[in-house]
Amino acid sequence: DLAIESHIAHIIKRSRVGGDESFFIADLGQIFRQHRRWTQNMPGIRPYYAVKCNCDPTFLKVLAELGTGFDCASIEEMRAVLNLGVDPARILFANPCKAPAAVAFAREVGVLRTTFDNIDELDTIKAHMPEAQLLLRIYANDEDAFICLGEKFGAQLDTTEELLSRAWELGLNVIGVSFHVGTGATNPASFCKGIKDARLAFSQAERLGFHPKILDIGGGFQDDCFESMGPIIREAIRSEFPAGITTIAEPGRFFARSVYTLVCRVISRRRQLGSAALSGVPDMLYQNDGIYGNFMNVIMEKEIMVPYLVSKKTRGFLNKPKSGESEKTNDAVQVPSHRYSIWGPTCDSTDCVVREVALDSEVKIGDWLKYKNMGAYTSTTATQFNGFSSTYDTFYVNSETLPDY
Ligand code: PLP
Repeated sequence: DLAIESHIAHIIKRSRVGGDESFFIADLGQIFRQHRRWTQNMPGIRPYYAVKCNCDPTFLKVLAELGTGFDCASIEEMRAVLNLGVDPARILFANPCKAPAAVAFAREVGVLRTTFDNIDELDTIKAHMPEAQLLLRIYANDEDAFICLGEKFGAQLDTTEELLSRAWELGLNVIGVSFHVGTGATNPASFCKGIKDARLAFSQAERLGFHPKILDIGGGFQDDCFESMGPIIREAIRSEFPAGITTIAEPGRFFARSVYTLVCRVISRRRQLGSAALSGVPDMLYQNDGIYGNFMNVIMEKEIMVPYLVSKKTRGFLNKPKSGESEKTNDAVQVPSHRYSIWGPTCDSTDCVVREVALDSEVKIGDWLKYKNMGAYTSTTATQFNGFSSTYDTFYVNSETLPDY
């Protein structure tokens, strides 16, 4: 952590960032660690990283080198992956409701695997990619997930037989079944239910004459409960598919979230006066990034943001201490806590990043605040509302081989 902070300080000090833009630090070492965690806990289950979560080309490149597949939902996401030289066979077009032009594009570039969950989609696929390798997306839902997807996608089990029959009539090729329990899932039972339902859909497909061979357990995996979910999911697969089955997944958040730290600058400040001060309303900080930028997850996923002041001490640390001088001169000093609410730069009062936080030091205009775990659904959901930029610099470090400044 200190190494990353020193690196942030290095970037700030070298003025490599425009004063009014937030920037990301991406720790490539963390991608390797997450990949290792994946292979240890989900052995044999190939991840198709969900590009929608974070489409930073450098990040995608590292994953490509690690051998993952990619879940793309649009033409631009397919382009982003193909531009890295990735074989189209490693891409799954995992969007069950696609525009005809997108299906035609996928065919043109050789991305043949895609999902469906309704009759009209089968007609679109027949017309624009008749040789598609199809996965039937079935309904699944973890009601405790940050964002449930079941309301929008997934065929209910009482419709799957009809859908599969229609695919058979059209001469299409169904190669498997997929589901997604929702992003930010916490309940392993929802995966178990999805796997059980997938088994039923497999049987229906087999009875019609298809030879399905792929089970796709979607995304939804989270850092906090990953290790505890792994064995439960593996056991569910073993019990529903005792003869074995090729299993893939579409993790996004799990790979991207912890790789990125976002650093924002305080651009304005309102110290409370009058009755607000007397009644203890926290002072207000306005920073150069907010809900309409990289913090959409505050409203979409009810994520609680934890800001850290990029400490002057660490920044001073760049002026290397003279020999014999301690770097930790302030440790014994008791500092009062300073309470703030933190707001984004737009004119909208929804644009509140942190309702209240107590920090050890006073924060002034020009100071920098750091937010960890900002890699998932942040840069990909940023808008240009109010004329603020939606492009941000990213600086890459490898925590395993950081230079000693
Ligand atoms: N696959 C599909 C079809 C999705 O819709 C999503 C997220 O919405 C993902 C994968 C990635 O999910 P997560 O980031 O929760 O792993």
